[in-house]
Amino acid sequence: MPAKKAVLIVVDGMTPDAFERAAESGRAPALAFLAANGDYRRGTSVFPSLTPVCLSSIATGAGPDVHHIPHLVWWHRAEQRIVEYGSSFSALRVAGITQSLTDTIYNMNGEHLSRGATTVYEAVEDAGLVAAAVNITCYRGTTRYMPTLPWVTKAAYGPKRFFYYGLFESDHTGAPFAVRSRAAGSTDAYAAAVGRWLVTRDGFDFLAYYLSDYDYSSHLHGPAGADDVSLERTDAAVQTLLDAAGGGDAFLDRYAVVLASDHGQTHVERAAQLEATLARFADDIVVCASNRAAQVYLRPDARTDAEELARALDGEPSVDVTLRLAGHDVVARRDGADGRADELEHPDAAARVQAALANPNAGELLVSAAAGWEFADLGGRHHAGGGSHGSLVAGDSTVPLLTIGIDAPIARITEIAPAVLAHFGVGVTADAR
Ligand SMILES: [Zn+2]
Repeated sequence: MPAKKAVLIVVDGMTPDAFERAAESGRAPALAFLAANGDYRRGTSVFPSLTPVCLSSIATGAGPDVHHIPHLVWWHRAEQRIVEYGSSFSALRVAGITQSLTDTIYNMNGEHLSRGATTVYEAVEDAGLVAAAVNITCYRGTTRYMPTLPWVTKAAYGPKRFFYYGLFESDHTGAPFAVRSRAAGSTDAYAAAVGRWLVTRDGFDFLAYYLSDYDYSSHLHGPAGADDVSLERTDAAVQTLLDAAGGGDAFLDRYAVVLASDHGQTHVERAAQLEATLARFADDIVVCASNRAAQVYLRPDARTDAEELARALDGEPSVDVTLRLAGHDVVARRDGADGRADELEHPDAAARVQAALANPNAGELLVSAAAGWEFADLGGRHHAGGGSHGSLVAGDSTVPLLTIGIDAPIARITEIAPAVLAHFGVGVTADAR
């Protein structure tokens, strides 16, 4: 018998606490139904625990050392410019709106995502199956799409079924355009409309279904307050898929399921400007900070090095730990002393830091924020008073992982794609291309 088809549901920024509350509270019947039928555990994200890095890791089954997406904002050494994927509207303006939109919509997949990584869509379709992607920012496939907006004339390459905020659509579904009101949940409403269309037609073998509005609420209201605004809407977007199959049992008869978030969130009270702390090195470095992580890049003729920068951050209250390479060794500097990453108490710290530093697009110095702190972005924006993520701490790094009909015991978000491919009997080819 061929393997069941599979659906991957990614709820951006939903912490394990939030998922466990949702499954038990009665407020989220679709999540509760799936939880009651699945194997649940807490797993770990990657570092930095920021959405472009995390979704690339989920879609490729590999860390940033393989897929090369380093952060929400980073320094492109070959092009000597900042790449900004959307820390805030102000940050986009500083980096240049047109360039930033091109980087986010096209270049992240077309240029920045390493050809050495294989997306789950590429692997599934290489095996003759049909992959579908809804709104997920790591979407690389082999089918060419022109945008739905006639004045945008650049093509993108996605899976056979591809829906990206209404800008790219493989099929006419009647779904309303996604980017109308984030606060009112229009993005997930778009995803749900497309998801209903896809499940009603059973129009895929593998579907990646990405819901982003929960994270947006958690940034505004904090991880403890996001439920009040977004939990019911997130649940409704999942319930839509179940209903489209004829109910929860019919859905599970047809599909294996992985449900996960990409990262957690923690409450933040204060924001720091790392550029100010490192101001005396301004001519020698580029600081790319956003949310709760930063990458510091040395300019080609810099008269400083990563060790001196790390020492300059000694005593800075917003910094938990800095990470750098000395030869092949990872140095984790904390409380004014160099140590090893495997001495950090953070989940899976040594492997996550190693993968972050081995990314050729990473800065020479990585900075992980202390609890309660955020680093202001290029536009000076932050989420103080709300929620944020990006650091190595457990709250940012721990995710809910639920599997139904998938045998592999997934413990990290990088293990999702290999588990899906193993489910289909497709070779795991993270480094094959
Ligand atoms: Zn976020």
